[in-house]
Amino acid sequence: MELVCPAGNTTALRTAIDNGADTIYTGLSDATNARHFPGLNFSPDQLAQGISEAHKRGVRVLLAVNTYAQPGGWERWRSAVDQAAALGVDGIILADIGLLDYAARTHPNLPRHLSVQGSATSVEALRFYHECFGIRRAVLPRVLSLAQVQQIAADAPVELEVFGFGSLCIMAEGRCLLSSYATGESPNTAGACSPAGHVRWDETADGTLSSRLNGVLIDRFKAGEKAGYPTLCKGRFTVADRTDHTLEPPTSLNTLDLLPALHRAGITAIKLEGRQRSPGYIRQVVAVWRQAIDRCLAAPDAYTPEPGEQARLSALSEGSQTTLGAYSRSWQ
Ligand code: SF4
Repeated sequence: MELVCPAGNTTALRTAIDNGADTIYTGLSDATNARHFPGLNFSPDQLAQGISEAHKRGVRVLLAVNTYAQPGGWERWRSAVDQAAALGVDGIILADIGLLDYAARTHPNLPRHLSVQGSATSVEALRFYHECFGIRRAVLPRVLSLAQVQQIAADAPVELEVFGFGSLCIMAEGRCLLSSYATGESPNTAGACSPAGHVRWDETADGTLSSRLNGVLIDRFKAGEKAGYPTLCKGRFTVADRTDHTLEPPTSLNTLDLLPALHRAGITAIKLEGRQRSPGYIRQVVAVWRQAIDRCLAAPDAYTPEPGEQARLSALSEGSQTTLGAYSRSWQ
């Protein structure tokens, strides 16, 4: 089972390598990937340097080009695929079928992974991507129950990667338009749920902090209350006289408990979310998952997460709480 870790900059990449990543996934500094935030990601030169350092340590590097090419922007997305091939990444993570087709025809030897943004939730969908574009691996969306993941894994024609830890996305990924309603831009087009240029923070004299996305009030925090980045799905809204996290409370996915089941199902790789996270976060999360995967692989039947590991992950989680998300859902 491979540990696939995020890196939003060179320091995070080195930190992930030092703490036991098998594979690092990255993005270029533009809207071609779904973590397009100011100051984040890699220039081609930085990525070349990162790949060289990773390869010397036996670690693979993937490049996410997982937003959808926009009308009039094809050249930018095509160029990102070409750069991935020229830089010698170990695989490219794609969602757009036009780009998958381009990559398969132009760079047939560059391994292609279907991004979670491709939203493939059935064996039939995986077969389509495999037959048409020769994908080697698919990242499953975080909307599937464990039983569904096991069912798909039993017949999947490609390697499967699932999310192990990090921010949750409650929509079928690649199909969320929440941010578009407020800003005209979405993670699928501009690479961010809440593009930073649309975010505004206001603090009043009594210490109350309000977060807005293009003028839409997302949340209001009392003085001293921990304030999260304003994402529409995690905002507090008043519905039927009740003000609460209407769609989803702040929480992080944590599947440490499910490692043996995922291993038995034949899942190839565990992905950690968080290219936007600090190197300090990466250090702790990668170290916990490295230890857990090694213990699980050594003795799957005897494996249980250690309380210290769970406590470390909880402390790093959104709202200081974790969930199994859709994995534990009983309905289909
Ligand atoms: S706004 Fe929320 S539900 Fe939509 S893509 Fe972003 S994280 Fe997912």
